[in-house]
Amino acid sequence: MNPNRIYLSPPDVGSAEIEYVLEAFQSNWVAPAGPNLDAFEQDFAQLVGSKHAVAVSSGTAALHLALRLAGVGAGDEVLCSSLTFVASASPITYLGAKPVFIDSEARSWNMDPALACAVIEQKAKAGKTPKALILVHLYGQAADISPIKACCDKHGVKLIEDAAEALGATYGEASPGSFGLFGIHSFNGNKIITTGGGGMLVTDDAALANQARFLATQARDAAPHYQHSTIGYNYRLSNIAASIGLGQLTRLSGKVSRRRGHFKAYAEAFKSLPGVTMQPEASWGQSTHWLTCLSIDPKIAGVTREQVRLALEAENIEARPVWKPMHLQPVFASAEMHGGQVSERLFDHGLCLPSGSAMSEEARERVINMIRSQFA
Ligand SMILES: *Cc1c(COP(=O)(O)O)cnc(C)c1O
Repeated sequence: MNPNRIYLSPPDVGSAEIEYVLEAFQSNWVAPAGPNLDAFEQDFAQLVGSKHAVAVSSGTAALHLALRLAGVGAGDEVLCSSLTFVASASPITYLGAKPVFIDSEARSWNMDPALACAVIEQKAKAGKTPKALILVHLYGQAADISPIKACCDKHGVKLIEDAAEALGATYGEASPGSFGLFGIHSFNGNKIITTGGGGMLVTDDAALANQARFLATQARDAAPHYQHSTIGYNYRLSNIAASIGLGQLTRLSGKVSRRRGHFKAYAEAFKSLPGVTMQPEASWGQSTHWLTCLSIDPKIAGVTREQVRLALEAENIEARPVWKPMHLQPVFASAEMHGGQVSERLFDHGLCLPSGSAMSEEARERVINMIRSQFA
């Protein structure tokens, strides 16, 4: 077996990050506060076109704050994409609310707007309007935001965008995450930029941004002693982590073009393989292709997704099935689900390939050759 493992999406860090971290050390801002944290929030808000950004310890924490500030509480219903990572849905349950899962559409693999709107209409008619909707932008590609936002606005459903996988993408001219009441981003080690773990909450509402900072720092009332009138969290990002983020942000566009380059090369190499379909790029914007994903129809390909994945693993190449939909997760077995065929088929047939922004062309060739050999 080749001793050099090729990972799905490893961190890609450089010297700019070291400079910022050094600066934080030298000024003794080794705390969950400091000038680099402020600068990271400002640069980030400007980049994504939101008025305010609040840096927190994870994307999951950002989503928890967003839901709480959207007024979600015990017994409320929150619509959510089924095809996603569990962190899109688990904060719903932190608040005692109930997730209602919605299937994907084939065009983008993201939430089906027609289905989402039908569910909102039906629930509104029944006098049980959902409190919020979490719209996930999967694998670097924006969902079709406009029709979903229109239904949400019409019925007073708070739109929260999970853009954890979509930093650097566009919907029209704008960034996914900047359309809803809140957007959230993630800087986990595998995301397009990393802080070694971290997240961001973005919003255009100054009062909500202030509330988020307040809740993220233990909800301390304005008093010289420690006084609390509500329960908060310890969710703030550290100035050290933000320093890494500041460095990462300066090279975002290069990271996007390298990931797009991987997708293009994979698509070119696989175009004659029977039964292989790349994740489609929807017409409404540009995907970062955070991960290159494809689906393999075993009836046409003569080989299953799992056979291909195991062949890659045997060559020390990390590939992953597409997210297992939430409605198929044991923990959400009793949750309400609308549709399901699209996300179930994507889970059965879908494969995510190594896509790191620092992956060499030689490494990519190794992946390509291994996959092609399965079709020989
Ligand atoms: C990574 C991810 C999150 C969670 O982000 P963390 O920073 O890991 O908490 C949420 N949603 C999606 C779709 C993700 O991929």
